[in-house]
Amino acid sequence: MMKKRLFTPGPISVPEDVLLEMAKPIIHHRTPEFLEIAKQAIEDLKYFFQTKNDVFIIAGSGTAAMEAAVVNVLSPGEKALVISAGKFGERFVELVKTFGAEAIVIEPGWGNPVDLENIKSVLKQNRDIKAVFATLVETSTGTSYDIEGLGKLVSDFPETLLIVDGISGLGAVECKTDLWGIDILVSGSQKALSLPPGLSFISISEKAWEKINNSSTPRYYLDLKKYKKAMEKFDFPFTMAVSLVCGLKKSLEKIKQQGIENLWRMHRKRAMAVRGAAIAMGLEIFSKSPSDAVTAIVLPHTIDGEKFCSDMRKEFGMSVAGGQDKLKGRVIRISHFGYQDDFDTIAVIAGIEVMLKKYKHQVELGSGVKQAMKILFSLQ
Ligand code: PMP
Repeated sequence: MMKKRLFTPGPISVPEDVLLEMAKPIIHHRTPEFLEIAKQAIEDLKYFFQTKNDVFIIAGSGTAAMEAAVVNVLSPGEKALVISAGKFGERFVELVKTFGAEAIVIEPGWGNPVDLENIKSVLKQNRDIKAVFATLVETSTGTSYDIEGLGKLVSDFPETLLIVDGISGLGAVECKTDLWGIDILVSGSQKALSLPPGLSFISISEKAWEKINNSSTPRYYLDLKKYKKAMEKFDFPFTMAVSLVCGLKKSLEKIKQQGIENLWRMHRKRAMAVRGAAIAMGLEIFSKSPSDAVTAIVLPHTIDGEKFCSDMRKEFGMSVAGGQDKLKGRVIRISHFGYQDDFDTIAVIAGIEVMLKKYKHQVELGSGVKQAMKILFSLQ
């Protein structure tokens, strides 16, 4: 039987001790036993988010928390500025429009960093913008955005909230919710938290609560006021995904022990190894501001990326992601988060090298692996 290895930017492999935690017999979600687990998970999530703000768990994938951010904050007809440079920036644009608000869309182009001066001038010209929506790491392009810089800029506009999608970035790259002035940060379980998909998380600042209390968009399951009321007793408004929260508590306990800065450092090292290896193999990195959460590598134009990914999975048991939308067939994407170690990073690079050879692409066997080993183990 072939060993399966997941390098997709979510879902990812889950460590054995977390799997075992989730395999324990189900307990009822309103028992003191479960609420104690939830309380600890919420406290540790605040560390993970680097915040003292309220943090809530929603049973639903990351998009549930994105939708919660939109429907709780914006009323129909209100204006929002959305930075959109990939599939997930586009999702915020769609959500804003779906609920009847107006989206002013800033499009730096897929893989490009955003020009903060441009954002500033749009905010100055539109004083009625209620929120700026941004993405910490755009998973479709492997790009990191300057959320710290954006936070400084938005703080000059007291009526405007900063709302960030940290679904694939949080835990993988530095993100300091309170220090950077992020009013709402959303994330999901199937990325740097090394959990299965199914949970999303959302942090809410005091400034954001003022907007939430006054917004008129209809909502029910995602009404954050219900979550806040229940949270007074570390409870949830609806049946919580008990097993996933048990896994979450375990995963966060491990992250706290490791230290969040070390987690960021680990992602950086693996991302640098993959970037270095790709260049050593004569390939290009798609992003002009590459993230440490996921790397998008441009394939030679003679290779069909979709087939390349499916062959990697079939022949080596390695799942890497292909491109989305306009990048379909052109790139492969490799995640650096989840339960993987330095030798897994070397394995995926070796897999890519061998597959490139099979596709008759000129590559010196071992060139990428050698470069990755040097970076991972600080060798000369
Ligand atoms: N935003 C980003 C940056 C993501 O990477 C993803 C998932 N790949 C989403 C949003 C959507 O999350 P989900 O699929 O969990 O709903």
